[in-house]
Amino acid sequence: MKTAVHWFRRDLRIADNTGLIEAIRQAQHVWPLFILDDAILGGADMGAARVAFLLESIRSLERDLAGLGRPLTIRRGLPEPELVRFCREVGAEAVFCNRDYEPYCSQRDTRIFNALNGLGIGFEIFKDSVLCEDQDLLTQSGRPFAVFTPYSKAWKGRPVPPPRPRPARCHPPARSPASVALPDSPAAWGFPLRQTICAGGEPAARKCLSRFLRQSVRRYGEQRDYPALDGTSLLSPHLHFGTINVRTILKSLRDSLADASAAEHRNADVFVSQLIWREFYLQILWHFPRVATACFRTEYDRLEWKGSASHFQAWCAGQTGYPIVDAAMRCLNATGWMHNRARMIVAMFLAKDLLLSWQQGEQYFMRQLVDGDLAANNGGWQWCAGTGTDAAPYFRIFNPVSQGERFDPEGAFVRSWVPELAGLESRYIHRPWEAPSGSAELKRYPPRIVRHEEQRPRCLAMFQAVKKMPSPQSSRP
Ligand SMILES: Cc1cc2nc3c(=O)[nH]c(=O)nc-3n(C[C@H](O)[C@H](O)[C@H](O)COP(=O)(O)OP(=O)(O)OC[C@H]3O[C@@H](n4cnc5c(N)ncnc54)[C@H](O)[C@@H]3O)c2cc1C
Repeated sequence: MKTAVHWFRRDLRIADNTGLIEAIRQAQHVWPLFILDDAILGGADMGAARVAFLLESIRSLERDLAGLGRPLTIRRGLPEPELVRFCREVGAEAVFCNRDYEPYCSQRDTRIFNALNGLGIGFEIFKDSVLCEDQDLLTQSGRPFAVFTPYSKAWKGRPVPPPRPRPARCHPPARSPASVALPDSPAAWGFPLRQTICAGGEPAARKCLSRFLRQSVRRYGEQRDYPALDGTSLLSPHLHFGTINVRTILKSLRDSLADASAAEHRNADVFVSQLIWREFYLQILWHFPRVATACFRTEYDRLEWKGSASHFQAWCAGQTGYPIVDAAMRCLNATGWMHNRARMIVAMFLAKDLLLSWQQGEQYFMRQLVDGDLAANNGGWQWCAGTGTDAAPYFRIFNPVSQGERFDPEGAFVRSWVPELAGLESRYIHRPWEAPSGSAELKRYPPRIVRHEEQRPRCLAMFQAVKKMPSPQSSRP
């Protein structure tokens, strides 16, 4: 083949990029393209932290591709017409890209496949962001897995293909197609400026991985649940945007553990399990796309969420009067990131203490998170609300006080995000309402908006009401 396009989407790297490597292998000349998709950028789910990370990652990709002699063209608009126009401009015989599992993307790709096919242009799509996709892992009866543990066992039994070599440098073309300029900051597109917790781009992803492998992975299993510790990888935005690949992570992990003890291996295995959760939720979204808007367990679509708008506002603003919840929400609002344990606590609190639908929380998270990812976010929210696969059963309700005392025992996390409580004695840090009245700290901190012990039975009653209804057809495979 003479000319092809590699269309970058959520694979913003040149190393071990299946579609890019295949394009370079099959075509004499490859034009790299990124389309700023108006439907995604203008969508209600898009937020400042993710846009900032995306811009940084594209800029970094631009530099890396220029270094390879393959300049990136950036276009803006709707992908279908932009891609067709670009293919015509450069005379492409085929478009190469990597598969995206979200419903919007798979529908878009089907339309694009048809449009290109009609013009005699090939559309080659590859598995790249996961080890297992579509039919790779099925239960013995040939159905998609809906329970994590057997899925995880089957996943671990699959070989991990080695990362592929970096594409070689080539002579840059004499002339490049016109490209749109990226703005200096997301503010140009109307997104507020945000403090970021991690830089975008492939070199930043590699740095992030090496730091984690050097400093934390050997104690990951012991430390991962403590939000005040720097115990997790912070790789989630990189995995979301494909600035790093799961194959590279697993290979580097294996290399870094060459001299590790059995205990350190066990800690690292817990990290691998998190990577499997990511793929588990991606395959759930792929096989059951309706979870994007509805409960995996269809009976729970009939839950009557009775929470109030003012409680939702207090939750968003980190003003609920529960210190661990407020610290986590303020951290999210300021940085676009939240620790996994904190995500579980605030999600459970929204659904089971405030009796607000998980979809409201899910949407708020999507707008704020730098790693906002439909599959993982939806899976996490449905797990916490008790409506999803493998969900915490509806009667498992985290107590925000005991969660705080267990996972932030001295209140270090709370103190760093809730300055009003910074000077409070540790024994009151998760239950400030029990501190001696008149304490100066408490004057600036809101009282509890609900009482956990009163909300718990209300939540149980809400779920039990559904249990008593005649059951609709089950969605479980
Ligand atoms: C309510 C809720 C919402 C969530 N929303 C998102 C989201 O939008 N995007 C997102 O990437 N993760 C989400 N998660 C999962 C998890 O909280 C984050 O992946 C994790 O906190 C990211 O930090 P890390 O990269 O340091 O993770 P690590 O602990 O270092 O884990 C390594 C990688 O494994 C994956 N991972 C870890 N835990 C999970 C999980 N429970 N489900 C799926 N993948 C996982 C991520 O890609 C992560 O980068 C959510 C969890 C909950 C409970």
